Amino acid sequence: MSAVKISVEIDGEQHDISECAWFFISPCGCTHGVTTVKDYDNGGWITTPEAAHVHMTPSKAVREQDIARGEKIEIGLRSGVTHRLSGDCPHTPQWGRAELPQGTEWGRAQNARNIHIVDEAEDADRIDWDYRTPRCGGRESLFEIHRSVVGDAPMCKKCLALVEPVL
Ligand SMILES: [Zn+2]
Ligand SMILES: [Zn+2]
Repeated sequence: MSAVKISVEIDGEQHDISECAWFFISPCGCTHGVTTVKDYDNGGWITTPEAAHVHMTPSKAVREQDIARGEKIEIGLRSGVTHRLSGDCPHTPQWGRAELPQGTEWGRAQNARNIHIVDEAEDADRIDWDYRTPRCGGRESLFEIHRSVVGDAPMCKKCLALVEPVL
């Protein structure tokens, strides 16, 4: 029996990769997510930030937008997970995310590639479709704002520019 050992240098010290995790760091510097170094799909280990990102965010377009907006992915010690994920982000905007105007949400029209900023439903629990006009000036359409449909789509650049003028 033999096994390949992968060691990772963290702060100048060598650690076995099994002691590590991938951390997802918002543009503000706060850690907002973590994923395992174990590659359950293919066996072995996830050894690059790019592969960890694919694991966390299947959509290539969303990954590209994450990186363009300053998302960082780095390997760290698993023992630090609880500490790094325990606090709330004290920054404005929180988690480096675009702060949406009150009463608006990201929404997605059927089969649309991008999500747009649209008016929130009056009933926050409503998950069905509603006619909404995107803030970027796109045409009125049936939009869905539930997390399950917006999560894997990139944000419309025009809408993003309305709330994140730096980009
Ligand atoms: Zn923060
Ligand atoms: Zn838009």
